[in-house]
Amino acid sequence: MIFVFFIAIAGTVTAADTQNSNAEITKVKDTSTVSSISNNTTKSSSVTTNGSAKKNYTIKIINRKTGGNVLKNWRIKKNIPNSAICREVVEAAKKGTPMVIFGNGKGPRVMMVAGIHPNELPTQIAAMKLINVLNGKTIKGTIYIIPFVAPSSTAKNIRRFNGRNLNHISYVKGSPSNIVVRMAKKYNVKYLGDFHCTNTYDAYPLGQNVILTHPGGSKLARYIGKYARSPVHSVMQYRGLLTTVTTRNGIRSVICETKSTDGTIFPGSINASIRHMKGFLKFFKRFFNLKIHGFNFNGINY
Ligand SMILES: [Zn+2]
Repeated sequence: MIFVFFIAIAGTVTAADTQNSNAEITKVKDTSTVSSISNNTTKSSSVTTNGSAKKNYTIKIINRKTGGNVLKNWRIKKNIPNSAICREVVEAAKKGTPMVIFGNGKGPRVMMVAGIHPNELPTQIAAMKLINVLNGKTIKGTIYIIPFVAPSSTAKNIRRFNGRNLNHISYVKGSPSNIVVRMAKKYNVKYLGDFHCTNTYDAYPLGQNVILTHPGGSKLARYIGKYARSPVHSVMQYRGLLTTVTTRNGIRSVICETKSTDGTIFPGSINASIRHMKGFLKFFKRFFNLKIHGFNFNGINY
């Protein structure tokens, strides 16, 4: 949910200010084209196989100040798969922010982020379900998934980390959200999806499943919107947003908002978030030859 950002950044806010902020989220009409992301020349990360023919991922701890036991949040514990890879991610999250890298280290290179607002639960659960399904699959392309940006706050089911809204401080060097940006740059990620939840009572166009796009990300946003039957709107580039900072670093970015009030799981919201994530991935299958052997790009229910 990003709407509170308007209020927080404005300090004293009036109804008119709020209206103005709303007005700045408008229907997307732009028709920008998508540049190739397949031919990157930057050194790719090596994805180790760990001696196992089936292991197709590595897990990195990208920030060691954020660790926590996410299973202390009973809604997380109840809803994430109890599989070996998920247990491994949970263990990693005790040490800090985990990043799971799937694929062969080559393009297309895309990143999916959940939990920058740690009390937005369905997206973090959806990310874990996706990780579980991608495990063991042969992938042509590289997918970086950060399921919990701040595990210690996810554990407590709170919105902030050390009192800060992480989606306000992505430009602040060393902040957990800024480290996500740094990783996206380091690994030459070309597209990023930031997965959020919006309160059921949030003002239009929030309060519903909705895709928000920044300049350059609109083709992807429209594709996800069509796939998931979620409306698409553009969002002002407030400087603290993760997707503002990634956009300014040349990474085409979208925000996918799933309707579910903070700290809770709205009925159907986990699958709604999975639908956004699958739409995100299917875009790269359609336009950039991402291949995930045996992966059902259309199935939703896990
Ligand atoms: Zn959010």
